[in-house]
Amino acid sequence: MSRKYKITRVEITGATPYLGHDRNGAPIRTKDPEQVMAWLCGAWRFRFNQHRSNRCRYLIGTTGSTGLLEPIGSMDRRSNADTRHDHDWIGAVPDLILTSTWMMERKEWAAAVERRRTNREHGRKPGRMPGFKRLRQGRRFTCMSNRGKGYRVVKYSRKHAEAIIGGTDPRGWRDDGARYQIHIHFRLSRPVPESTSIHVDWTHRTISFTAPIEPHHHQPTGAMVGVDVGVVHEAALSDGRLLDLPGKRLRHIENRINGLQRAQARCVRESPYDNTRDYLRKGPSNRYLRLRKQINRLNACKTRIITDWQHKTSRRLVDDHDLIVMEALQPANMSRKPRPQADPDRPDHWLPNGRNAKRALNRGMREASLGRFRTMVEYKSHAAGITFLAVNPAYTSQTCHKCGHVAAENRESQAVFHCHACHWEGNADVNAAINILDKGLRLNDPSGRDTSETRNRSVGPCGGQTDRTAAPSRRGAIIMPGGSRQ
Ligand SMILES: [Zn+2]
Repeated sequence: MSRKYKITRVEITGATPYLGHDRNGAPIRTKDPEQVMAWLCGAWRFRFNQHRSNRCRYLIGTTGSTGLLEPIGSMDRRSNADTRHDHDWIGAVPDLILTSTWMMERKEWAAAVERRRTNREHGRKPGRMPGFKRLRQGRRFTCMSNRGKGYRVVKYSRKHAEAIIGGTDPRGWRDDGARYQIHIHFRLSRPVPESTSIHVDWTHRTISFTAPIEPHHHQPTGAMVGVDVGVVHEAALSDGRLLDLPGKRLRHIENRINGLQRAQARCVRESPYDNTRDYLRKGPSNRYLRLRKQINRLNACKTRIITDWQHKTSRRLVDDHDLIVMEALQPANMSRKPRPQADPDRPDHWLPNGRNAKRALNRGMREASLGRFRTMVEYKSHAAGITFLAVNPAYTSQTCHKCGHVAAENRESQAVFHCHACHWEGNADVNAAINILDKGLRLNDPSGRDTSETRNRSVGPCGGQTDRTAAPSRRGAIIMPGGSRQ
């Protein structure tokens, strides 16, 4: 867990930090915050890439137990002290910034190995292993706390605090004292947690405090709920409630994005180039680039609104219930695609079925958002110690929860469910949510075990108090020294 704050300004006090030599051999000593921060980020990236250079990948064509490993870099195994000795420009970098690179590099690599394994298990593409950190990926550095030795946080007023990192100039560059302090002022938008490290993103001017997840004390409520996530209503609950994203705000932002995109299209149209690709290759206008920046900013804003809503809603769901049932995540190859429709008049011709590129993109974004919501409910359930079940969602939207009648015609439209057997009528998503809860309860109750459910690999209790001990722990996965590429 981490909390992020906006950096307002940076100042350097005490001695003048020594940043190395310029190309003529003259020493660079400055208190300019821009230069000092860029220098810290550069040093952090340099040390990080030294650690990364020891990682290995399989030679092309050889994988698994017979695979041959080759290092991805030059296998630089120097210690902090040796690196400082060889490169005097990092001599004044605080120790706990250099040390943090080791931890961050291992963490990122292990997460990638884990992520690739999970993706493969779910039938998705594994994705790439991380490589070296590039400058274009942004300027950033991390500093560890080490029980308050790395940095300290001082609060000045209700809205203003600063993190202070101290460093020492190397011998020979100490004419105005040895110790310097970097004061990173930030806007105190919420309380700062007890943190184990800070992460400074100098490209976006933010500072985050990383803290261990606080144990959550769940008050038993005795309530159970089934949740159907969907596109029209982000979540429908089995008790009949429909939870929606703040649609008005999102639509407002989307309208503004559309307007800006039209302006971008005008830029291309008024240029001498025929298409966007040529236009971009020949150098887009400043106006075009400014519009792109505005669009990116609005999209980021939209994402933040959705994530905020999802965090708050999943927190409420977990607080209010003792058992939550949701759909199991579907492997990628099972994701729903519109079936191709043959044209009855012309053989070998196909009717349009709504699968153009833009729609596919939007659907991908929507599905990612729904998957994220499910993940949030799942991990919050685990942290609170309540039971979270995942069931196969097959036929839950076509089955009547009253009489169990299954038919595709039951679903009259996207919103309305009308049972042809018992004539129950109501919201289709709520009906699906009730079916999901029923499936979960049958699964949870050993006497009424539904064999067709348990046979499916993707179905099963994913957590909860009883099953957590039985679940195989993947935390203990061994990463080979030097790191094999999996
Ligand atoms: Zn019915």
